[in-house]
Amino acid sequence: ALNGQKHWQPAWRDPEPKAHYDIVIIGGGGHGLATAYYLAKVHGLKNIAVLEKGWIGGGNTGRNTTIVRSNYRQKPLHDLFEFGLKLWHNLSDELNYNVMFSPRGAMFLGHSDADMVKLAERGDAMRCDGIDADLMTRDEVAKLEPLLDMSRSARFPIEGGLIQRRGGTARHDAVAWGYARGADSFGVDIIQKCEVTGFVRDGDAVVGVETTRGRIGAGRVGICVAGHSGHVAGLAGLKLPVESQTLQAMVTEGVKPMINSVIMSQSLHCYISQSDKGGIVFGGDPDNWPSYAQRGHPMVMEGAIAQGLALVPALSRLRMVRTWSGVTDMSFDGAPIIGETPVRNLYLNGGWCYGGFKATPASGWTYAHTLATGSPHALNAPFALERFMRGATIDETGTGPMPN
Ligand code: FAD
Repeated sequence: ALNGQKHWQPAWRDPEPKAHYDIVIIGGGGHGLATAYYLAKVHGLKNIAVLEKGWIGGGNTGRNTTIVRSNYRQKPLHDLFEFGLKLWHNLSDELNYNVMFSPRGAMFLGHSDADMVKLAERGDAMRCDGIDADLMTRDEVAKLEPLLDMSRSARFPIEGGLIQRRGGTARHDAVAWGYARGADSFGVDIIQKCEVTGFVRDGDAVVGVETTRGRIGAGRVGICVAGHSGHVAGLAGLKLPVESQTLQAMVTEGVKPMINSVIMSQSLHCYISQSDKGGIVFGGDPDNWPSYAQRGHPMVMEGAIAQGLALVPALSRLRMVRTWSGVTDMSFDGAPIIGETPVRNLYLNGGWCYGGFKATPASGWTYAHTLATGSPHALNAPFALERFMRGATIDETGTGPMPN
């Protein structure tokens, strides 16, 4: 930056849109870019475009709190997220781009006997599906995180925890940039400032998209727009079982290492980690009303801060430097939707609620398979949109840091 970025080489091209692509992906977040990367790399398809209305990674990919884990309760989610976690462990090598994956451990806290029973059950379910999970005593939690308030008089006393040691964090921007550079190197056109405003139909099939940069023909179209899933699917006449809600996060000034793992509390609806720059990253509940605003309500922010301070009182000495929010597409069962839609040639990847960052590699891998072959990968077959019609929902309510 000292030379004003004068001689920097762009990491990907800035192409003009072509008249037609075999596959058009709507949304240049991590999921869309990963999908394009695997379409090109694994399936050998080259005539692909990613259309992004703003700039790549400017959506939830660049706004999330970067937690990566696979500590769910049900087998379909275990299989999907664990597949993703395994990809995370090798992602920097795969992309030749440092995504700063840091498996520092993702720990849920238990604040009562009932909490501990629930954590034990979850750990058992994980281990049955071959995923690591260790139940922790109070002393073990205190040893890992000495700054937690472990006093018996704490508002929410800590009785123990459940840790997935291979979980952790990754650098979210790098994930978008790494996949973008990789996809571009295979010939994928990444087209920014290109909003999809409608679909071109031929009978019951989609054959292209209308955009702010003109009409673009497509063999298949994949929606991958996170919090805008409902809106974009609506352009094709679909009403999705999702609701867009704002989720906030915030970060303090940078300090020396003081939080060693990712700390999550379902009872307090709060999670805390320390970024590689030293800032303490907080998150809490979504603003529980529908919104497309990329800013949150101070009341919810205040709640998350109060909860964080109840867990780690020393945080009260730090200054908050930034807050932000993103628009999440909350599905009705808390699980994602990946697969075909009732409109021919139109596919959907969405409904990730507040937990899709960790799935980025798995989401891209399975969606690429679906778009390339026209049928689901074994890992995303349970996440079909039509599960809501069959009543075959995958109810994961309460398995994130916050209940849905
Ligand atoms: P995005 O990055 O949002 O990409 C979608 C893109 O589509 C956007 O860039 C948008 O501009 C574009 N788009 C929308 N409409 C159009 C259109 N009409 N035409 C063209 N482009 C369009 N998940 C975790 O696993 N761990 C976490 O710790 C975590 N923390 C979170 C904290 C916050 C504050 C938020 C908001 C989310 C968090 N998430 C977390 C969720 C996670 O960020 C998302 O589930 C995931 O990033 C969604 O997929 P994506 O990356 O492709 O979405």
